[in-house]
Formats: sequence, C-alpha cells, structure tokens
Amino acid sequence: MGKILVTGAAGFIGRQLSDNLISNDFEIIELDDLSTKPLLTPKESLLIMKVQDINSDFLIENNIECIIHLAAKKNVKDSFFNMDYSTENFDMTHKLLNASAQSEVKRFFLASSCEIFGYQDNTLNERSALKPHSPYAVSKVANEYLSDVYMMYKDILKVTSLVFFNTYGPTEGVDAVIPNFVSKASSGEPIVIEGDGNQARDFTYIDDTIRVLLNIIKSEKYFRYINIGSGKDITIKKLVSVIKSLKENIEVNHVDQRPNEIKTFVAENSIIKN
Ligand code: NAD
Repeated sequence: MGKILVTGAAGFIGRQLSDNLISNDFEIIELDDLSTKPLLTPKESLLIMKVQDINSDFLIENNIECIIHLAAKKNVKDSFFNMDYSTENFDMTHKLLNASAQSEVKRFFLASSCEIFGYQDNTLNERSALKPHSPYAVSKVANEYLSDVYMMYKDILKVTSLVFFNTYGPTEGVDAVIPNFVSKASSGEPIVIEGDGNQARDFTYIDDTIRVLLNIIKSEKYFRYINIGSGKDITIKKLVSVIKSLKENIEVNHVDQRPNEIKTFVAENSIIKN
C-alpha cells in the first residue's frame, strides 16, 4: 500500500490520529499550515503547507494512495462573521479532490460534521437529509456534493465522510465547549452559556474517536458516510452542573444564543458499533 496523507495533522484530532497511525506501522505524511495555533508543539516531521497548494505531482511523487482530510476552519459561530473561513473549507477540499482524481489516490476520508444535518428533532443517521444552518455547515455540505462529483469523474476514487459529532479531550482548543468551561472553572472566571443551556450535544472522548477511526481506515468495507458519535446527548446545562459538582463557587452567566443554534444533535451509530 502507498502512503497516507493526513491534512490538519497538527490539529486536535489530526495530531492524535497521526501518532496512532505511526504506531500502527502506517507510512504517513503529516501536513498542516498551522493557521489554527496548536496546543502541542508541532512535530519536526510536520510538513507546513496549505492544502490548497497540494497538486497531483505532489501526490504522485509521494506515492499517496489514501488521504485523511481533516484540515478546516471549524468554528461554527465564527463562520457567520468571517466569510473567508467557509470559502477556504470549500476551496481547499475542491483542490485536494481535483488533485486526487489526477493521481493514484483510491481512498479519501473527508472530515464531515453533524452540522450538515442541522436540526431534525430526531436521532441522525447516515441517510438523514442535509439541512445546514450555518456557513460552516454549508461548506461541509458543499464538500459532500464535491466528493460525489469527483467519485463520478474517477472510478477508483472512493470517498468516505467521517461525520464527527462532538469529540472532546485533552489538547482540544479552548474555543470548544468542554475545554472552555473547564478552563473558566479552573481559573475562577464565570462560565458563559449561550442561550438557556437546553441545547444538547453528543460527546465522544478522543481515545474512542481515534479507535473508531483506526478501525475504519483498516476496514475493507466501504461506506459513503459514517457517523462518529456516542448515541447519547447531554444538555449544556447538565454539562455545567457536572463541572459545578467538581468545583464550588462557579459563577454562571448567560448571553444570547448563537445564530441559528441547533437544539439537539444525537448520532445513530450502528455502523461504528458493528
Ligand atoms: P482543529 O481546528 O484542531 O484542526 C484543524 C487543523 O486544520 C488545524 O491544525 C489548522 O491549522 C489546519 N488547517 C486549517 N486550514 C488549513 C489549510 N488551508 N491548509 C492546511 N491546514 C489547515 O480541528 P479538529 O477538532 O481536529 O477537527 C478536525 C476536522 O473534523 C475538521 O475538519 C472539523 O471541521 C471536523 N469536525 C471536528 C469536530 C470535533 O468535535 N473536533 C466535530 C465536527 C467536525
């Protein structure tokens, strides 16, 4: 087998996945442009480069047969205020799929998100309708359609979308809800809840996400979409009460809810369980 290219390899999921791929004897190239400042010092092996600058020559010269495309600007709220983020998510994925279609890439794992489904008032399965509620989600949905287009164009190219719900754990950036609340609680600052806190999310610990990803990458079975979630949801209010049970005198403030806040995300996860 050729090499695996991991984009977004300095990020929260990319760094831990890359380390685990290496310890499982996969030959990989780790790439990231460091546009999101990582919590861990980047490794010397990291190729500091923009995904947009990868072309087919690069993929052929490096014998890349599989790509795990995790690079993205992932902040949902910011995507309403910085229009370039969603454009970049689409642009880099388009260029990478195009380069893949002109090279020997056979497997393309695309980091997707439960945000592609928007609010549907029920458990989300891999066939749920696509209903984006944010520019970020639109960029992820656009990447899904692009993937279908490139699979029609190139027979040997098979794309699987890794539909992440919320993965959490050490080294996650503090713009994500759990590290944000925990760092506020430990520094004695108030925890800030957007809206009433009744919005619910499906959280998966990073070690479980990595184990699932390794199984998916090693598997011979093909799926177009795979949900990566626990199948359980917890409200933000309940999350705060858990943190409050661990530390006394935590102040909690409320601000307006974010634009188009989704009430609940919960994954139907039978593919990863079987
Ligand atoms: P992250 O922000 O920690 O990592 C993303 C990495 O991509 C960063 O290191 C950043 O520097 C890099 N990057 C951004 N633009 C780039 C470009 N143009 N070229 C090269 N590198 C670039 O994110 P993460 O939590 O590791 O998430 C990985 C993927 O999974 C993302 O696509 C994200 O949208 C998706 N996702 C994550 C979650 C989650 O809970 N973490 C949930 C849903 C979807």
